[in-house]
Formats: sequence, C-alpha cells, structure tokens
Amino acid sequence: MPKGGSPLHAGLYESALLPLEEESGPSTVYAQVIVDVPAKQTNRPFDYVVPDELKTWIGVGSRVGVPFGPRILQGFVIGLSERTDMEASKLKKIEQVLDLMPPLNPELVQLANWMSRTYVCHEITALQAMIPGALKAKYEKMIAVAEDGGRVRQNRTGAGGGQAVMFAGSAEDDAIVEFVRQKTAVSTEAMLSRFPAAGPLLKRMLEQGTLVEVQTVKDRLQAKKMLYVEPALEAEELLAQSRSLPSNAKRQKELLIYFSENPEPAPLAELSEKLGIGAGTMKGLAEKGWLTIKEREVFRDPYEGRKFDRTSPLPLTEQQRNALDPISEALDKKEHNVFLLHGVTGSGKTEVYLQAIQKCLDQGREAIVLVPEISLTPQMVERFKGRFGDAVAVMHSRLSQGERYDEWRKIGLKRVKVVIGARSAVFAPFADLGLIIIDEEHESSYKQEESPKYHARDVAIQRASRHGAAVVLGSATPSLESFSKTVNRRSDYEDGGGSQYRLLTMADRVEGRPLPAVHIVDLREELKEGNRSMFSRGLYKAIEERLHKKEQTVLLLNRRGYSTFVMCRSCGYVVQCPHCDISLTYHQVSRTMRCHYCGLSQPEPKTCPSCDSEHIRYFGTGTQRVEEELGKLFPGIRVIRMDVDTTSEKGAHERLLTRFRNKQADVLLGTQMVAKGLDFPDVTLVGVIAADTVLHLPDFRAAEKTFQLLTQVAGRAGRHKLPGEVFIQTYTPDHYSIVTASRHDYKAFLDSELEMRRERGYPPYCELALITFSHEQVPLLVRAGESFVARLKDCWQRSRNKAETGLAHSPVQPSYFEVYGPVASPIPRIKDRYRFQCMVKYRVGVDVSGMLTETAAAFDETVRQEKLQISIDVNPQVLM
Ligand code: ADP
Ligand code: ZN
Ligand code: ZN
Repeated sequence: MPKGGSPLHAGLYESALLPLEEESGPSTVYAQVIVDVPAKQTNRPFDYVVPDELKTWIGVGSRVGVPFGPRILQGFVIGLSERTDMEASKLKKIEQVLDLMPPLNPELVQLANWMSRTYVCHEITALQAMIPGALKAKYEKMIAVAEDGGRVRQNRTGAGGGQAVMFAGSAEDDAIVEFVRQKTAVSTEAMLSRFPAAGPLLKRMLEQGTLVEVQTVKDRLQAKKMLYVEPALEAEELLAQSRSLPSNAKRQKELLIYFSENPEPAPLAELSEKLGIGAGTMKGLAEKGWLTIKEREVFRDPYEGRKFDRTSPLPLTEQQRNALDPISEALDKKEHNVFLLHGVTGSGKTEVYLQAIQKCLDQGREAIVLVPEISLTPQMVERFKGRFGDAVAVMHSRLSQGERYDEWRKIGLKRVKVVIGARSAVFAPFADLGLIIIDEEHESSYKQEESPKYHARDVAIQRASRHGAAVVLGSATPSLESFSKTVNRRSDYEDGGGSQYRLLTMADRVEGRPLPAVHIVDLREELKEGNRSMFSRGLYKAIEERLHKKEQTVLLLNRRGYSTFVMCRSCGYVVQCPHCDISLTYHQVSRTMRCHYCGLSQPEPKTCPSCDSEHIRYFGTGTQRVEEELGKLFPGIRVIRMDVDTTSEKGAHERLLTRFRNKQADVLLGTQMVAKGLDFPDVTLVGVIAADTVLHLPDFRAAEKTFQLLTQVAGRAGRHKLPGEVFIQTYTPDHYSIVTASRHDYKAFLDSELEMRRERGYPPYCELALITFSHEQVPLLVRAGESFVARLKDCWQRSRNKAETGLAHSPVQPSYFEVYGPVASPIPRIKDRYRFQCMVKYRVGVDVSGMLTETAAAFDETVRQEKLQISIDVNPQVLM
C-alpha cells in the first residue's frame, strides 16, 4: 500500500492537478492520453502538449478533446510528465478540457488499466464505464453565476475543508461575475479568451460556489425545471401596492409583504405550502406585474424534500458485535481485508454495515455501499439516509442523467462521504476510501453483461487493496466462489493465489425470531389427486387464512407475461421470434406476443401460422396468469404485480412497495424482484408457485441460483413479531437445492453443490472464460470460431514451453487449461445473428486474459471487415 506522497492519498482535485506555475517559469508539460479510437491502438496512450492556458485545468483523470488525424476526439489523461519519448516538436496540443474538474482520479485511471487487462477490453471502454452517462452524452459545458446571485460566501468550508474564504469582493472576482451574469452562461473557452490569466481564480470561484458549472445535455428532457416566484418591484412599491388592495384581499397583501421582506426568488410550490397561499393568487399578482414567475433549472436531488427519520446506532447483539469487531480492527489498522459476512435473513447485517461505516467516517475516510438494484431496495436507502443524512449520495439506475451527474459531482466536491448504489457505484471517485460493502454479494447483477464485463466484487477488492480499505461481502447465501475463498475452506481448492476472505457468521435472527417453517409441495401429487390449479391445496388454504387475519402474502413466480409459449395442438407449431431462436411469450394485457430477447412485439395469432388450425393454445404460467387466477379464486383480493412490465416507469418499484407496506394490498406477486431485501412486518406467508423455473436453465449455477432464490424469498416471511410460513411448489421435491433451502441449511447445500462442481469441473474448482462469436452467416462463424480456438491453444502451448524451459519463475506453475468448443450457443440466434461459443477452463495462475488479448488481436481485421463479433467474458455469470 503506497503511503505518504502517493497521489492516492491526497485530495482528489488538489494533487491530481498540476502544480501551479513555479517562479522559475513554465516548462512544457506532456500529457499521456488514452484516445477514443477503435481496436488495436486503444491501450496505447498518445502524448500531447498541455498548452499553458489549460495547465490549471488538466490533471490525471481529466477528459480532454485532442486532435487525432483530421478529427477532435475525446480522451482521458492518464499521466503527466515533463518528458516525452516522442519527438517533442511533432506533438500536437490538447485542444480542450471537457470538465472543469477531472471526473476521475489517478487511482481510477490505474484501475481502468487493470480492468482492460483482466477483462480483455479496451482501456477507453473501462474509463468510460466509470463516469456517469451524462458525461458520455453530447453536451455543452458552461459556467454560470450561482443561484444565490453570486454573493461571495463568507466562511464557507472550502473543498479542502477548514479554511475560510478570504477574498470576498476582489476586483477580478467582480469583473468575472459581472461578465458571466451578462451572458447568463459562458463556455470555458469564451471565459479564458476574455480573462486569459484567470484560470486559478476561476477554479477557486468554482470551488467556493460563487460560480457553478452548468451542463446542457442535448436531450432537453434531462433538465429539471421548477417554477420560481420573485418580486418584480422594489420593497417600497410592493408595500404601496399592498396598501392599495381592498381589505378582503388578505392573501395578496400577505404575499406582497412577504416579498418586501424576502426579495429572493422562491420555488412556487414550496412557498405555496409554507404560506398556505394558492398558486392562483401568485399568478394573479404576476399578471398585475408585481411578481414574476419564471421557470428555472434546479440542482437535482432525487431525494430532496424527503424526510428521513434520523436513527441512532442500535445496541448490538452478541453475534453482531462478533462480526463488527474484526471489521473495526481492520479499519483501525487501515489494513486491506476482505470479510465474508454470512448472516441468515433477518440476522441484522444492515446494522453491522451501518456501524462499520460510522467507524470509517470517524476516521475521516469514505465508504461505498453496493446493493443489487437500488430501485428494489428503497428501504436500504432509507436506512442509510436515516443514519448519515446528507453525507449520503445515491447512485440510482433510474435517475435521470442529470441527477446522476449531480450526485457524482457531490463526491468530487467532497460534499458526501458515503455512496450507495448499484454496480457502477463501485467507481465513485473517492480519494480516501476506507470501506466497501457489497450487500447480497451473490447477486448476478453485480456482473456487467456488456463490455467491460466486470464483476463489481472483483473491482471493489481491487480498489480497496489500493486504499488499504476493508471490503465486507454480505449475504445469507454467499456465492460458492466467495465462500470457497474463506480461509478455513482454502485447502480444498489448491487456489494458487488471490485474496483470502475472512468468514464472519451470524447464524440467528435478531431477538431469537425463528426462521419460517417451510413446506415443500409436490405438484405431481397434487395433480394425481385431481388438483389442476396452479395453487396447491396447502398454499390455497394458507392464502385464505392470511386474508382472514389481514396479514400479507408474497408470491414468487420467476416468469413474467401470461404464458411461456403458444403452441398449436394440431401440428405442434410453437410461435417463435423470427429473429431469435426462442419462443415468444404471450402478454395478456396488451394481447401481444413478445420476444424477451429482442423486444419484438406482435399481435396474438388467431389461427396457427403454420397449418391454419384454430386449436392454438397457451402453455406455461406467467405472472399475469397468476394474477388473473388469484382474482378468480379469491374474489376481491387486492394484488400488486411486480415484474418488468409493471415497473418500467421511473419510481414504479417504490410506489408499488409503498402501497404494499401501507397494506393497500393483500398479495405482492412478482418475479425475483420480490425476493430481494424487503422487510415488511405483516408478511407472514411466502409462496413459490414453481421452484423449477430456474433449476432447469442450461447453467451450471442453476442449483445455486435456485437455492439462493428460495432462501431469499423465504426470508421475507416472519421477520418481525409474527411468525412466518413458506410453501415451495415443485415437480422435483427431492432436489438438494430445494430440500436444503427448505431447511435453511447453507452448509448442507454447499457440500452437495461442491461435490457436483468437483465432478463436472466447474468453479470454484477452476476458472472459466466464455468466448461468444456471432455473425449473420454460419460458415464464416464456424471458421472463425475454429481458428480462434486453434490460435488460443497454440498460445497456451507456447507459454507451456516457456515455463518448461524455466523462463517463467512464478511459484505457481500454470497446470490446467482446456478449451471446449466451438459449439452453437444455447440460444443459437439473437436478432438475426447466429451464435457460437467456446469455453475455457483453467486454474488461477494461468494468464488467460493475456492469451485471449493476444488471440483476439489476430482477429481485428475480420472483426472490422466481416462484421464478426467476438465477445470475451472472463468469469461469466450467464452462459447463454
Ligand atoms: P438482514 O439484512 O440480515 O436480513 P436486517 O438488517 O434487515 O437483516 O435486520 C432485521 C431486523 O432486525 C430489522 O428490522 C432491524 O431493524 C432489526 N435489528 C437489527 N439489529 C438489531 C439490534 N441490534 N437490535 C434490535 N433490532 C435489530
Ligand atoms: Zn398448426
Ligand atoms: Zn427476438
């Protein structure tokens, strides 16, 4: 861990920037820039000259515009130096700086390099994955005077903390403020051409908040506008007008008097609530010309106006204390450590996270909390905001680009200390990270399925190791990969390297609450006894009982839509997507057939498209069908359905969950969304309609995913005073993943599953990489796939030979490497492109990423000319 003078430990925007010019006069500074150009060259930085007037603004992590051939391209500065290996006179100058403060810091720049090597992607792709979408969009960046009129703030804490701002009202300040105010907003270029030497001053004014950076994203919907009211007259005149009004115009008088005392613009809605005066009254006065109502862009805070009840730390239970202590100790020592917190559902993991973060903040360090999908966990946000208030920024996939960008800026400006968010929040540009928490660490959403195909867990550990920070992976059902890395398990795996995790266990629910009783229902038996309904008799009775007792039920069916497929009974034709090799799903509400892969939607067929028969029927069950059935069986039942179809709108999850929590519904029915993290006191029944939906996926993790899903959803029941009960309906009641989940027995599951993985040679006994090729024509695809595999094997052979001649001196001799395929992918065609794949199995210690990089490079031409796509996925989560 680098200490002292390391750039990682200094403030983000201070030391990442160049030192201001020394007395000795300016020397030429060169920037190494990763430029946004395709293919081969991307991982090679290009040298550019930093022009003197841009020196103040450029640091490691800056986004810049640089001339590249005839164009200006975007690039990231990854290094600065007073030397260059190139011929200095031939170097071009950086044309522009795109951000007033570098959006990334030196540590993140190094991380991007690590990602590109590990995940076999372009460095520019990794860099771009780290910044919020708004910075990728087309936009114009301007400088404006702050909303409060640019009155220079006194005694405001500067970005570095502590010192008061002492240069209020200097002549240059005033000149700049005046210049900007006249133009409303000014581009950086215009500003610097007017005040060429004002770089440092501008920067200070931005940090102080006298000036603000505004960004116009081209998409106009991004900007949030609010109506503001302000007086159009001087105070005296306002008072005069108020006296002129008839005595019954009380409200109007009151408003005028208010503005005579408070001339600042105020948000209309807020003012209306505060004074109890309707918008109509205000508009009336505006029409008279006494007030002005204007639309303004506001600083977007998705949680603004929301009150979060402040909470204080709870006295910990003994097992929480035992979990927290080692984490605190690691924090004290500023030692990098990875903890796997295995705590059953309801064991109080969140309180452990909260107190660990408190400790980290007390040390003056910063923390990141990752959750699988933040819109599904509004309660998590509440708990963190409740404990740490405005020190928390929320990075939310459903935020507008502008909102996300604003939350991101708060990090750079050191206004927040904790970031909570989904996967990409792992890139929060903190400079002094102490702790990263990954809740529900087993969730597959931590893996990004598009390039860079990174896993947030690995990235988090990588970042933490550079900061001397602790990582806490929390779960009731840890992934096998993580569990196998805990120290006491280590000997089983001949794991050649990598970090070891420390296992912390919380085996009981808080306050000795019991885990719910789980019944496995054999659907074959139900059928034999004549029950053709999708509800077993047991589950039916249990729901009925809950309706009587006014308790709530959660129902899980991991399949949206109405039915899974539509088949002709006469000829057996199954309606398929014409572009993908997958059957279409019937959606009843819209009466359409939809492809869940490419989004195609077409009207339901009246007759068989193949033989014209009218005997075309729906098969399988989706969430819409269950909802309909519930309505028939329990007239008047109030059901909230939560799946991709009902939650596409912004804020939909939260609205649905709030309704459920307020007991405006009896049943929450949904896909796996309902399995995660919810904590409702009155939920005493959980029903799983069909536990087999996940089990039969062509995926070696199918059993693990089934176990996790069942355990998680069962964990929603009986979390508070009332005891819970769970029904799992299945056609395979004897499968170990279902049996062990019903007993809440992680260890037993682990043993069976490890046995299976060992036999078949899957992680954690080896590592995987998946290479998928796609093209419109099969012959070319097969040729490319086979030649790729041949080259890859060749690569391996060469590295073996090297190892044998003693050139490689790694203590871990790479010993296992196997390539399977190419074969057709489980979904052989998506969007009219055929798909083949090959799988690499290897042991830790083999440089698969290196070999894949080398092999893929040989295909650059084919990729470009023939439009072949090669997708490389190191440690894939999805094998289809
Ligand atoms: P998990 O995340 O492990 O499933 P939670 O953190 O949601 O569990 O905790 C379950 C419940 O127990 C919550 O309602 C929480 O407020 C409560 N709880 C947690 N810790 C304590 C404690 N030390 N004392 C009392 N209640 C607690
Ligand atoms: Zn037919
Ligand atoms: Zn399709």
